[in-house]
Amino acid sequence: MSKAIVATASLAGCFGCHMSLLDIDERILKLIELVEFNKSPIDDIKEFTKQCDVGIIEGGCCNSENVENLIKFRKNCKILISCGECAIMGGLPALRNFIPVSECLEEAYLGGPTTGLCNPDKIIPNDEELPMLLDKVYPCHEIVKIDYFLPGCPPRADLLWDALVALLTGGEMKLPYEVFKFD
Ligand code: SF4
Repeated sequence: MSKAIVATASLAGCFGCHMSLLDIDERILKLIELVEFNKSPIDDIKEFTKQCDVGIIEGGCCNSENVENLIKFRKNCKILISCGECAIMGGLPALRNFIPVSECLEEAYLGGPTTGLCNPDKIIPNDEELPMLLDKVYPCHEIVKIDYFLPGCPPRADLLWDALVALLTGGEMKLPYEVFKFD
């Protein structure tokens, strides 16, 4: 059986979902038999070098770079999975959705308890090289079509393993509420 090609990305996420994937422990040896990783923080391949079968996305979109990355994943992956609450609903970063962007920037760069020391000139970074902040944090399915959703924060390693095996072998998968984990 030829190996499936898998790519992964962390957008506005904390890498906890990627850590959960590594938590499959010794099954990682089996995973390497089943898949070849392409663009991913797991192997540090920065750009797509071939068309992929599965793309796994952690995190939602909080800036223009996240959106560009997500669109690239949609173009280069046959199946795209939103992995974890940040990808599915925006997660913790989306708490800022209730506050105007200008207020968030002022709090981060001007009004925070340590900003007097770190930013004595009171500069809000605005270099054109920096990704532009979006008006709010968007879940991935509001930017591109998503094929599957794996809930949890992070989704449990067993859930990620079962989902990948089911996807790659054409098997069925059940998602009872008990397998969801949020902590
Ligand atoms: Fe981190 Fe949870 Fe978001 Fe995954 S879903 S990136 S573990 S905060």
